[in-house]
Amino acid sequence: MTAAPEIVRSVAALRERVGAWRRAGFTVGLVPTMGALHDGHLSLVAQARAECDRMVTTIFVNPTQFAPHEDFAQYPRGEAADVAKLQGAQCDLVFAPESGEMYRPDATTAVRVGGLSEGLCAVTRPHFFQGVATVVTKLLLQALPDRAYFGEKDYQQLQVVTRLARDLDIPVQIVGVPTVREADGLAMSSRNLYLSPEERKVAPTLYRVLQAAARRAESGAPVAAVEAEARDALLAAGFDKVDYLEIRDAVTLAPLTQVGDRPARAIAAAYLGKTRLIDNVAVAAR
Ligand code: AMP
Repeated sequence: MTAAPEIVRSVAALRERVGAWRRAGFTVGLVPTMGALHDGHLSLVAQARAECDRMVTTIFVNPTQFAPHEDFAQYPRGEAADVAKLQGAQCDLVFAPESGEMYRPDATTAVRVGGLSEGLCAVTRPHFFQGVATVVTKLLLQALPDRAYFGEKDYQQLQVVTRLARDLDIPVQIVGVPTVREADGLAMSSRNLYLSPEERKVAPTLYRVLQAAARRAESGAPVAAVEAEARDALLAAGFDKVDYLEIRDAVTLAPLTQVGDRPARAIAAAYLGKTRLIDNVAVAAR
């Protein structure tokens, strides 16, 4: 049986371990997470495992990406269970810092990614991408991996992270990993734990509606009409509120009136009760 991964809690220890690997000529993969690990996270670990000689998973519930009214306090935490899953996935090292290790009390520097960090999730979570961009930049500079793995499930985040690595010349390859779903199509998410049994039954509709919207947009239907119909379909299925459902350029996330010769993405956030679910699907170029 594989040994349990070593857990380090300081940036110095992380740098020491990864530095030794690099001096030995090993390539290093990084998988940043907020813990409460499920098979979606583990597919990122598996891909890093397959493509890199050594890999690090980080577990840090990042306070700066939550607004005061959001679920930071109740976000699911369970390090022992997470580490057991990571052992099964043959992760080499876990970096699980305390908040004080990541943020000095008088820190004043933040990373803001223009354009991509506006619209979609940022409309209702205006603080979110600056928190994500700052913590991901710190993790990339702390670990200096060859590759870092992020899920397509958080599609806008994946584009933001790809852009910040490019714009800041961080020498890392950002790798996007396809969304892992439950058997009924619901994208796996730590927040699915919040759903009541009734809400859980409605939840997979988000994926089905996005797929239907993607097929309609690919057939040349005007994007505004496709979006409006899809929003109505979510409400009719039992969603309480649709934050957004939009078809955007897959790379720039620019709004579209019609799908053209570039790939697009149907992307949505919607509420079941108090739980906000996000998902997205690919829309082929025409
Ligand atoms: P989180 O712990 O929610 O911050 O997620 C950590 C990483 O896992 C992010 O890169 C997510 O996009 C990715 N991830 C979360 N859920 C899934 C999923 N269902 N499939 C693939 N990747 C996922």
